[in-house]
Amino acid sequence: MVSCVSILGSTGSIGRQSLDILSRLPEIRVAALTAGSNVSRMARQCRDFRPELAVMATEQAAMALKAEISDLPTRVSWGEEGLIEAATMPQADCVITAVVGMVGLKPTLAAIRQGKRIGLANKETLVCAGELVMAEAERWGAEIVPVDSEHSAIFQCLMGCGNKREVKRLILTCSGGPFFGMTREQLTQVTKADALKHPNWKMGAKITVDCATLMNKGLEVIEAMRLYGLPLEQVDVVIHRQSIVHSMVEFVDGAVMAQMGTPDMRLPIQLALTYPDRIASPVEPLDLLSCGSLSFSAPDLENFPCLALARECAKLGGTACPAMNGANEEAVALFLAEKIGFYDIYRLVSQAVERVPFVGSPTLEEILMADRQAREVVEQLR
Ligand code: NDP
Ligand code: MG
Repeated sequence: MVSCVSILGSTGSIGRQSLDILSRLPEIRVAALTAGSNVSRMARQCRDFRPELAVMATEQAAMALKAEISDLPTRVSWGEEGLIEAATMPQADCVITAVVGMVGLKPTLAAIRQGKRIGLANKETLVCAGELVMAEAERWGAEIVPVDSEHSAIFQCLMGCGNKREVKRLILTCSGGPFFGMTREQLTQVTKADALKHPNWKMGAKITVDCATLMNKGLEVIEAMRLYGLPLEQVDVVIHRQSIVHSMVEFVDGAVMAQMGTPDMRLPIQLALTYPDRIASPVEPLDLLSCGSLSFSAPDLENFPCLALARECAKLGGTACPAMNGANEEAVALFLAEKIGFYDIYRLVSQAVERVPFVGSPTLEEILMADRQAREVVEQLR
């Protein structure tokens, strides 16, 4: 079990659930909390958890926070520098990366270089720079324990498996999202409000839209390839509407291990803190007699082309993945601002992947450049 954590993105969906788990584990201290702009929620969290450092995205938000918590000893900072400081607090042995998007990359790398355990929720980091991140983790002896439910499931199925060659393939389960079974015609009519109604999980807006386009599963295929060092051919996706089987590992002898449970992110979050131990959790036990039948089917790549696009980018490697991710972040933000339609997300992301100059084995600078260029293409073509 870790002894002291920093949470990047503590005011979000994963961040709040992480603090819920921490409120039940008072032996784990909280070193730093960070947020974007939600000053009032951050102020409440500071009162409840007494971090040494609190970080906001902008100086303006940081000043507002400072005014609200002037009676507390908590130091307040802002921006990328603040995020990196939060990620590298000497007393923290674990960092939960629960910020959304590429903004998580530099602080995650900084924490890894201090050998800290990473409870990794911020999948965009692995999609954009997975090879670099995993190599640095190996070099600095930093454990990466996935928080994403599918990857945590695979992590759990692989506990005790010492030889990667025993793995035949990873099978990621996918709920299918709110638009499962819809035709292309119907999908052109869907709105932001429709996309934000996920059947099984309550999450932040960006990932909820990614679930509706199936881009989330595409990002997760790449995340799985990087985490477990496997080629694309060994990572499959099946639709499983009930979100009870969180993912599976098929071994070379034909055995298939699955991790099951009620859908609740607090389980993978807690495991990232307690691993290699398991302890009792607030998660509702799975009642097999009332959860209904479990179904599995192939994803519809035709009407949900983002998943196929992500697989193509995974095959290409290099800057294709950061370009795709950057374009997707930008396009989803435009969709959430109701400036573009649902299918425009795919259109803009695929055009950005085509237009951003390809680099085969990119440096961190080239990754950041591909991300910027992809965002510019989306801005130009929207
Ligand atoms: P939310 O949108 O709910 O939370 C995002 C957090 O990041 C908030 O604390 C937000 O602060 C902060 N933030 C946003 N923009 C910035 C910025 N520019 N600079 C600094 N901080 C910022 O997202 P989720 O919790 O849903 O997701 C977080 C990550 O976890 C994502 O990568 C997602 O893909 C992944 N994930 C989430 C799951 C879930 O169940 N939610 C499941 C699996 C993975 P503020 O509140 O002030 O805006
Ligand atoms: Mg997931």
